Amino acid sequence: MKDRDYLPFALPDIGQEEIDQVVDAMRSGWITMGPKVKQFEEQFAEYVGAKNAVAVNSCTAALHLALEAIGLQQGDEVLIPVTTFTATAEVITYFNATPVLVDIDPKTLNIDPESIRKALETHKKVKAIIPVHLGGLPCEMDEIQRIADSAGISVIEDAAHALSAFTGTGASKKMIGVIGDLTCFSFYATKTITTGEGGMVTTENDEWTDRMKIMRLHGISKDAWKRYTNEGSWYYEVIEPGFKYNMTDIAAGMGLAQLAKCEFMKDRRKEISQRYTSAFSDLQELVLPPSSEGHAWHLYVLRIRPETLNINRNQFIEELKQRNIGTSVHFIPLHYMPYCQRLFGYKKGDFPDSEWVYERCISLPIYPKMTDDDVQYVIDNVREMVQNHHR
Ligand SMILES: *Cc1c(COP(=O)(O)O)cnc(C)c1O
Repeated sequence: MKDRDYLPFALPDIGQEEIDQVVDAMRSGWITMGPKVKQFEEQFAEYVGAKNAVAVNSCTAALHLALEAIGLQQGDEVLIPVTTFTATAEVITYFNATPVLVDIDPKTLNIDPESIRKALETHKKVKAIIPVHLGGLPCEMDEIQRIADSAGISVIEDAAHALSAFTGTGASKKMIGVIGDLTCFSFYATKTITTGEGGMVTTENDEWTDRMKIMRLHGISKDAWKRYTNEGSWYYEVIEPGFKYNMTDIAAGMGLAQLAKCEFMKDRRKEISQRYTSAFSDLQELVLPPSSEGHAWHLYVLRIRPETLNINRNQFIEELKQRNIGTSVHFIPLHYMPYCQRLFGYKKGDFPDSEWVYERCISLPIYPKMTDDDVQYVIDNVREMVQNHHR
C-alpha cells in the first residue's frame, strides 16, 4: 500500500483569501505593523472573547512578553511541563530565571496537577506556571487555577496548539484565551492557524497590555510623547530597552483570512480525529488520545503498546515513512536536552511518565487539507502494520 504520493505530516491551508489579503497589504503601502495588525488583534480578541490581544512575530515572543509583563526577575522559578517544545523553557532563561520541569499525566499528556503541588512544596521562588495544552487538549484549568491562586502565582498559558479549544460546556464554556492571566498563541506554519511566523497574547489586564505593546516595539512609549504636545510627531521616548517583536501587516492579512476559517478548520480536524478513533478503537496494540468536547485537535497523538508488537516506536515511524506517510513526535522531553542537563542538572530517568509516553508516541497527520482518501490511506496502513507486526 504505497503506490501514492508522500503525505506530509503537516500542510497549511492557504487559499485565495490569504493571497488577496497579503497582496492588499503590499499594494496599500503599509507592510509593517499598521491597520491590518490592529484589525487582526480586534477580531482575534472577539473570537476568543478576550478583552485585549497583542500581536507579535512568534509565540516565543508572546511568552517572553507575558513573563516580562508579570515582572519575572532573575532567580525566580517558573513551573512548566517536561513534555513541551523548547520555547516554553527557553523564554524563562532570558531572565536568568529557572524553568522547573514538572511531569505529565500519561493519559492526557498535559502537566499533572498533583506534580505541580509537589513541585511547589520544594520550590519556594515560583512566580508563575506555564501549562501547555498539548495537541490542543485543554489542561485541567480549574484545578491549576485553584493551585495557582492559593500559591499566589501567575498562570501563563502556552496555547501554541490550542486556538479554538475550550473548557466546560453550556454556560460554563470558556475559550482558551480567557482563562489564565495571559494566554500565548502561535501562528507558525504548522499550527491551527498560520501567518507564516506569528503569535498573540490575550489578557483581561489593561496594564499588561500597554506594557506588552511598548515592549514589542523597542520600549517606545507613544503616550510619553503625547504628553508633550509642543513636540513634533517625530518625537518619541524609549522608556525601557525593549524588543523587536511586532507583527507585520503582511502577516496580519494572512491571519485575518485564517481566523475567518478557524472554526471550519477545527471542525475538519475533529472529523479526522473521529475517523481515526473509530477506525483504531478495536486495536489492542494502540492507545488512542482522549477525546474531549473542547479539544482543538491540533495533533492526533497515537501511542503504541510495544509489548504487543515486534517493532518499536522508531521502527513504526520509519515504516510509515516508507509507506509515504509523514509523522512526528510531540515531544522529546526537555530533560533529554543537553542544555537542560547542563544548566539545570536534569538527567534521563527524572520524569518517568514523560519518558514512558515519549517511547510510545507518534503524531499522525491531521490537517484540513487532507482528503478523505488521505485519511483512509493512513488508517489502512496503520491497521495493516499493526496486524503484520503483532506478536
Ligand atoms: C510551536 C510552539 C511554540 C513556539 O511557537 P513559535 O510561534 O514558533 O514561537 C511554543 N510552545 C509550543 C508547545 C509549541 O508547539
